[in-house]
Amino acid sequence: MKETRIVKILKETTSVGIETIVNVKGWVRTKRGNNNVAFIALNDGSTVLNIQVVVDIDKFDENKIKQITTGTSLSVTGKLVVSTGKGQSVEILADEIEILGLADTETFPLQKKGHSMEFLRSIAHLRPRTNYFGCVLRLRHAMAFAIHKYFNDNGFFYLHTPIITSADAEGAGEMFRVTTLNLDNIPRDEHGKVNYSEDFFGKPTNLTVSGQLNGEMGAMALGKIYTFGPTFRAENSNTPRHLAEFWMIEPEMAFYDLQDNMDTAEEFIKYCIHYALENNFDDLQFLNDFFDKELINRLQTIIDVDFIRLSYTEAIDILINSGRKFEFKVAWGTDLQAEHERYLVEQHFKKPVILIDYPKEIKAFYMKQNEDGNTVRAMDVLFPKIGEIIGGSQREESLEKLLSAIQERNMSQDELRYYLDTRRFGTAIHSGFGLGFERLLLFVTGMTNIRDVIPFPRTPQNAEF
Ligand code: ATP
Ligand code: MN
Repeated sequence: MKETRIVKILKETTSVGIETIVNVKGWVRTKRGNNNVAFIALNDGSTVLNIQVVVDIDKFDENKIKQITTGTSLSVTGKLVVSTGKGQSVEILADEIEILGLADTETFPLQKKGHSMEFLRSIAHLRPRTNYFGCVLRLRHAMAFAIHKYFNDNGFFYLHTPIITSADAEGAGEMFRVTTLNLDNIPRDEHGKVNYSEDFFGKPTNLTVSGQLNGEMGAMALGKIYTFGPTFRAENSNTPRHLAEFWMIEPEMAFYDLQDNMDTAEEFIKYCIHYALENNFDDLQFLNDFFDKELINRLQTIIDVDFIRLSYTEAIDILINSGRKFEFKVAWGTDLQAEHERYLVEQHFKKPVILIDYPKEIKAFYMKQNEDGNTVRAMDVLFPKIGEIIGGSQREESLEKLLSAIQERNMSQDELRYYLDTRRFGTAIHSGFGLGFERLLLFVTGMTNIRDVIPFPRTPQNAEF
């Protein structure tokens, strides 16, 4: 008999049918009872909710039922009935129980509830079996789906940009080198430098830090594209907001100016949050009840408010006039730290903030230069609890201005020649942004450490599992 998913039994009870025989397969969360009857809470991962299996011990081999402990995998067949007990609407009266795999009580680490997040990180291969991580992983899936849906419904095309790249131009972060050279015997040229012509690609290559430059080439043909893929930064930042391997969503739109870019970012992020509330309410409810009592409230609020939009210069004034003592000093021309971003969002405005028009020195070469000569049309979206969740900009469409920005930064024009062709042939204003998928998930799940919203996190000194 084909199993029925527990979410279907609980949410679509009438279509499954009371008094029908069903089969469920899953893992035991708890077992309680006495010599006559056992109650097994079974979870199959389809929902945070368990189905209660009622076992009339007389009908079974008592020793077999004794073997069933937390973590055991079971196949249960029985009649679906309205529950007379409290805590569940329906339950299954077991006719047949097949033990698929036992879980030794002495060594299975998820016996008790209430393990710390740190401990669960050390058993990342088993933590999906907990309610927390079940919720997080279902939400992660839902957000990925919502992202594709939003873009598809709005006329964007999914563009696959390379993961291995020879471009080192964007400067978004430190890169991981990709090589097949024998590190115990590195080929050298006559100056003693590494001879990359002997390497796999005949030149130095790295894992991508951003798909944007390729994304722009796509947008300048298809109009609106997005990328959604793994991104790598070898930055040694041991923070709760940085991973060495994370997923980034990068839409890029031809004929969009900064205003359109901000409108898109705000609509898109609200869409994702709305999607979670509509489609994953049980997961959110669980996280709200057991992890973060403000979660659902916070998500609802974000959908309802208009994001504040203001210039970097105005933000600096607010920070200086706040009278606050920050760890990092505030001054025009310096990059904002998370503490500054969070002050603006959480204390001053109490709303998400989109900061624009940053000093050109702290932003990338491709951003559109403002008339003032000092600032560029950048935008960062700042969120409560997170700080920067999105970084984006209107791009410089003028070949001449782009060339001078490249020169000012002593970057190689030759390496960027493909990119520059988009400005040579049929250039147009265009804009885009990058959303860190795990930063979005931090917000949506209420988790406080980015290591807890990706199944197998990669951080400095940690590539386990
Ligand atoms: P931060 O200042 O927080 O390090 P950034 O300025 O380096 O961010 P961008 O290069 O603009 O970020 O990248 C776009 C988005 O990607 C960021 O807004 C953020 O959501 C996400 N992001 C950047 N670096 C990381 C990282 N190491 N781990 C997870 N997400 C990241
Ligand atoms: Mn960074």
